[in-house]
Amino acid sequence: MEEPGVIVAEGLKKYFSLKRGFFETLVSKKDLFVKAVDDISFFVKKGEVLGLVGESGSGKTTTGRLLLRLADPTAGKILYRGKDISHLSARELKPLRREMQIIFQDPFESLDPRMLIKEIVAEPLRIQRVAKNEQELTERVKQILREVELVPPEEFMLRFPHELSGGQRQRVAVARAFVLDPQFVVADEPVSMLDVSIRAEILNLMLTLVQRRGASFLYITHDLALARHMCDRIAVMYLGKIVELGETGLIINQPLHPYTKALIAAVPVPDPTHRRIGDVISGEIPSPVNPPPGCTFHTRCPFAHSRCVNEVPPLIEVEKDHWVSCHLVDRPLTS
Ligand code: SF4
Repeated sequence: MEEPGVIVAEGLKKYFSLKRGFFETLVSKKDLFVKAVDDISFFVKKGEVLGLVGESGSGKTTTGRLLLRLADPTAGKILYRGKDISHLSARELKPLRREMQIIFQDPFESLDPRMLIKEIVAEPLRIQRVAKNEQELTERVKQILREVELVPPEEFMLRFPHELSGGQRQRVAVARAFVLDPQFVVADEPVSMLDVSIRAEILNLMLTLVQRRGASFLYITHDLALARHMCDRIAVMYLGKIVELGETGLIINQPLHPYTKALIAAVPVPDPTHRRIGDVISGEIPSPVNPPPGCTFHTRCPFAHSRCVNEVPPLIEVEKDHWVSCHLVDRPLTS
């Protein structure tokens, strides 16, 4: 998958080893691993919003953490602006932290309740020693608070997180992430804890900040309906693997993988009889400790056949910029 993305994952894997009880070690000597991310390759272009979509347990969050090197990969490479950052030490990563930021799901937990908003937002500036003096630091905090529409900033700077609403707290988290003008931002389910009525506002705010900076954005969500409105391209993950990847219009209007089709069929519409993912495909996502052989989706796929049980379908470009991992559509693009 050739493309000089701002951030590139090449054959990325993250396996967590499982502690076993005494009796389990007697029964088997084999080590057990959770295959959270299992050999994925993709990139995020400059200024692009890429959606990483899938059910809980699909490996989306671990992928985001790997790209930011908040977790160490088991195998594979992470390239940031062409440089391999897969094995950099914490010290070597420090200057990059300025350019790569994350916004977490829970605005109630991601902010230190004992700190004033001013200090929360100023902390990255202090760590990176960006401001020349206290006055410049205060000015930068005010400026970003204005950008996230917490006005007047002088008033919000002197409040504690518990004095703010959920939406305002997430605006603070967004301000903190953008105060250093990052070039790559990961947002992990950034609005799922918020009231439905303010989700669009916060997402639009993040998009505006990303666009102003020409930054690249990885938007992690289980909600395909939100991804559709936010993203230039969408990657669908299932059990640690990318099963479909392409431009948002292609993924939404011409999905090819049965799992993507099920996700789309389960998107809520203003209809009380709408179907959930469990109504569209049977069963739960299997355990990543012992994933099914062959195509990991075969235990739930209505089109599964013998080949699916025995052979892992490769991720293939079936039309320009549209990649799918399924034996039903495994004819590569011929040009
Ligand atoms: Fe279904 Fe087989 Fe395609 Fe997997 S490879 S999605 S089991 S048809």
